[in-house]
Amino acid sequence: MSAQDIILKELLDASHLQGIEALLSWDQETYMPEGAGAARAEQIAYITGLMHAKLVGEPLKNALEELIDLETGELRIMTLKERETRQLKEIWRDYRQQATLPAEFVTELARHASVSQQAWTRARKDNDFAFYKPFLTKMVQMQQEKAKYLATGTTAYDSLLDQFEPDMTSEKVSKLFKEIRVRLVPLIKNISEVKHRVNGSVISKDYDTDKQWAFGMDMLKAIGFDLKTGRQDRSAHPFTTSTHPTDVRTTTRLQENDLKAALLGTLHEGGHALYEQGLPVAEYGNPLGQTISLGIHESQSRLWENLVGLSTPFWRFAYPKLQAKFPEQLRNTDQEQFHAAINRVRPSMIRVEADEATYNLHIMLRFEIEKMLINENFPVEELPQLWNEKMEEYLGIQPANDAEGVLQDVHWSFGAFGYFPTYTLGNLYSVQFFNQARKDITGLNELLARGDFAELLKWLRENIHSKGRGRKAEELVQELTGEELSAQPFMEYLEEKYKRIYSLS
Ligand code: ZN
Repeated sequence: MSAQDIILKELLDASHLQGIEALLSWDQETYMPEGAGAARAEQIAYITGLMHAKLVGEPLKNALEELIDLETGELRIMTLKERETRQLKEIWRDYRQQATLPAEFVTELARHASVSQQAWTRARKDNDFAFYKPFLTKMVQMQQEKAKYLATGTTAYDSLLDQFEPDMTSEKVSKLFKEIRVRLVPLIKNISEVKHRVNGSVISKDYDTDKQWAFGMDMLKAIGFDLKTGRQDRSAHPFTTSTHPTDVRTTTRLQENDLKAALLGTLHEGGHALYEQGLPVAEYGNPLGQTISLGIHESQSRLWENLVGLSTPFWRFAYPKLQAKFPEQLRNTDQEQFHAAINRVRPSMIRVEADEATYNLHIMLRFEIEKMLINENFPVEELPQLWNEKMEEYLGIQPANDAEGVLQDVHWSFGAFGYFPTYTLGNLYSVQFFNQARKDITGLNELLARGDFAELLKWLRENIHSKGRGRKAEELVQELTGEELSAQPFMEYLEEKYKRIYSLS
């Protein structure tokens, strides 16, 4: 076997293990009986250990060394095509990352992530931060340790951020966040002065959850989610995972008195799922068959959730169908009123349920707190208080309890520090991509208003999904739109949209 064949074989084996691990984790969040928690943590730790051993094992290392200098990344053979060069560079990058982590640490981290996530689920349900505190404390320490091993960034936090959004730094994130904040804060203030112009009460009437589920499934199918290669279930925190492009799983959560959360959550996870289902199967197991970054992943979910799911054309198609499901609740609300209601801007406690404007303030707050925890050893026991202060500072409101405050998000429980900024990056990318799609697809609005989402999905498939990790996030946005990642298109989109909805001058 050639060195290239050996590399691809080892990576394919590792991907099988990763698929198995994803299934175990999916099950943990959906159907696993509570009593199985400890055993599940051991199973996940074991599989993760096997996967790590594959990724840093001698066969892969030796084969890789024939083709590329493991220290510098300099190619040793000059006959590779551009595609193969990209592939090799990405494999090398992954290898370097894995090789810095000791096997024991990887296994222990996987075990703790599972245990800690289970502890979070219980703590959130019982509104019990004290119960969760030791798990989170240990997780913060382990992430600081991980950052030391990775050592890719100028700060510990940057090393963690780089895992989710390659080549992104806190400095770049801060700059973008600042550009957003100077325009966002006055916009939210202007809206709050005329908030009476939008009545959102229709969203929080009583809506049977089975019917909400059915409507969500209809919408998922409409946007192109393939049920032969995917499924949706319920979980405490909505998420999407995949064991292979032919097995993609999303979850949603339903609330009787909130029509928006489940529906938009379903479209959001549906966007993630379409990306996973659109990855090239033939490249499964190597970087060209993988997603680019979490920021790009999030651009796909936010595109379907916001740019499609919160748009006027979408509701021209969807509102009559929704009215047919809930005739009593929606009898006295016309399509325009409903569109305004579902887009209402109002500072709220829960990030995933926030409107498009205030959403980013939730992210900025988490970005700040994460850096304090990882870089500055901010004490975990003071976290609830810090959270509440930052909520007051950023959104002018304070949670009534920790369940709707510091305990609301799952991420920190399984060690995803440096993940949150990718949500706002995703928002920025999504608008840049959608603006381009609008230029490239004639009559996109009319298509969406007819419930014809195929052209948009085709555009995403061709330009983003099918390319796998063949280019970096920055390169993709440049190549597709001719511009670099920027806050400008996003802010223009928001300002223009809310000007219309709230009749701002
Ligand atoms: Zn998402």
